[in-house]
Amino acid sequence: MCSTGIIYDVSMSNYHCLWDPDYTEKPARFTRVLERCQSLGLIQRCVDLKPRKATNAELQLGHSQNLIDILKSTSNETNVEKLKELSTRYDCVYFHPNIYELACLAAGCAIELTDQVISGRLRNGFGILRPPGHHAMFDDFCGYCYFNNVVLAARHSLNSGVKRILIVDWDVHHGQGTQRAFYDDPRVVYFSIHRFEYGTFWPELPESDFDHIGEGPGTGFNVNVPLNRDKNTDTDYMSVVLEVLLPLAMEFEPELVLVSAGFDPAFGCPEGEQNVSPAAFAHMMHLCNSFAGGKSVAFMEGGYFMTSHAEGAALTLKTLLGDPCPKLPEDFTTPCPEIRDAILNIKTTLRPFWKCFQKEDYDVKYVARTIWKGRTEPVPTVFDPMCPTPPRPKEFEQVFEDQLEQWISSTELRKSKIKLGFSSFDGRFVDHMWSLAHAMSVFKNGQINEILKAIKDDEIQSGLAVLPLGTFENLNPLACQDFKRVISININDHFSHVEDYSLKSDALVFSFQPTNQKPSYEYTKSTLKFQFHSIGDDKIDAHLFHALYRLILPLSYEFGPDLVVIRIVQENHWLTPKCHGMLAYLMSILAQGRILVLLQGQPEIKTLEYTAESLIDWQPPKQSINAVSENASNYEVVESARQEACSQWKCINWH
Ligand SMILES: [Zn+2]
Repeated sequence: MCSTGIIYDVSMSNYHCLWDPDYTEKPARFTRVLERCQSLGLIQRCVDLKPRKATNAELQLGHSQNLIDILKSTSNETNVEKLKELSTRYDCVYFHPNIYELACLAAGCAIELTDQVISGRLRNGFGILRPPGHHAMFDDFCGYCYFNNVVLAARHSLNSGVKRILIVDWDVHHGQGTQRAFYDDPRVVYFSIHRFEYGTFWPELPESDFDHIGEGPGTGFNVNVPLNRDKNTDTDYMSVVLEVLLPLAMEFEPELVLVSAGFDPAFGCPEGEQNVSPAAFAHMMHLCNSFAGGKSVAFMEGGYFMTSHAEGAALTLKTLLGDPCPKLPEDFTTPCPEIRDAILNIKTTLRPFWKCFQKEDYDVKYVARTIWKGRTEPVPTVFDPMCPTPPRPKEFEQVFEDQLEQWISSTELRKSKIKLGFSSFDGRFVDHMWSLAHAMSVFKNGQINEILKAIKDDEIQSGLAVLPLGTFENLNPLACQDFKRVISININDHFSHVEDYSLKSDALVFSFQPTNQKPSYEYTKSTLKFQFHSIGDDKIDAHLFHALYRLILPLSYEFGPDLVVIRIVQENHWLTPKCHGMLAYLMSILAQGRILVLLQGQPEIKTLEYTAESLIDWQPPKQSINAVSENASNYEVVESARQEACSQWKCINWH
């Protein structure tokens, strides 16, 4: 099993604005993250990589020699007035005598870390990098950024043979530098969620809106999610991720995911002014990790309220290390109207390029419209070298600190010593699992309640059991008395009916079965049963996945389970082994990773392996599933069920 890499250099705190002591881009952005990650014991669990500077040739992968030379010329410049004067030529940039060296270091670290991940020496990685990079352009410094770390890492990866890269940019500002670098390149999907407010928010560019989807061969590969109001919540962010990013990225099948991890959408940030909780970053990272077999690298970008910035970064790293996502602190509910509009606009605009959006049931006559309230005069050529965000009064800041303290102290940071509890009626499966050298506890055949108890007591993170066919009655004790709210997913691949079983706890049950008739669904307050059309060896991966992001995940978030149980009857192998692994991985985002997977019958050995890897190594299968199918009627039943369920479930009640 390979590990999580960390890269940083303590010298990255060695620069600040020499003429504005209140500048929000300050050394504490680096030191506070490092301190928080250390205090949670996270750095110690990572492979500590040796930092290095980017070479000139590497910088040229994303920047003009002219720009590189300008920055080089500021090296050791002691005349502050000269540095200040140079700063007025760039939008929101200050120069410091150390900045050339440190920008080279951040860029070199980004490349080094990414190289370790693409070569397979590391599973994933986190770069605590300062200066940030995503605003830096080919021939322009911008927005506290000098060299574009993520662009250089992506170019290096493409040159090393990586074919498709997904860049997720959740920094609250639009990373126009990254967008421009790959605007016509179909090998890179750039996906950014950012504050826009109809063009009135920095950087006030029309190109940050949803209608800028790439050009030439790259058309359809640039995805902008404009936030047209402030105070967006976890629900708003996660709705975008589930509705847009998840289906699109699964269809794209990246080989590498790079994350521009800015923590300025985090609650309290004076630049972001959003209400995203630190825990939500763990959830976004978990999902980003599902797209390329877990090959993901996150780089620190912005973040200007130190408490939420440091906590968001630490929880992102914790997720990369394979710890379960903490519970989101607020209820999952209806996304705000501006988010619903943005999602609809994006899907409508990208519909011709992505099959996933062609399968959804929404008004095809909907016309996406852009609204521009931003500047009409030309972009200035001289800029104010002082900090663009004025300092806030202490009392004002304290309100944010108090709320954050409450969130942080009530967030359960779960970590069990042993990742998986395993039991099997067939000893060969136990032998095979040991041969994978996985850290697990083996339980006697059928000791489901013992596994559940161990999950409850945090002795094991999750459970996996192989049971003989026809032992549903064994599962009745699945009373899960200790768990109050249970999500149950039943997949039964033979044509008999799924036996109902009752849980003593509050349960939300999703059932899937094949049929050779027309597909159908049945909806009640606490159950959703689907019959998907399938003949012969048809696999239903695409339809299960469609149900996952359209219904199961949003409803489950709103339901707020403290346990997830997946039961799969294996006879005709209706799902591919990779789809089993992906299902386990995606559902383990809930209930703080308390998940039990029951396989009945004789599972394929690959099914066992992929599921175990998802639960133990946090490594979902690569090139995971056939994300799109041609069976329109199966898509239709999921869409119809969503329509019926929307009156009861706030998360999908968009009317
Ligand atoms: Zn930012």
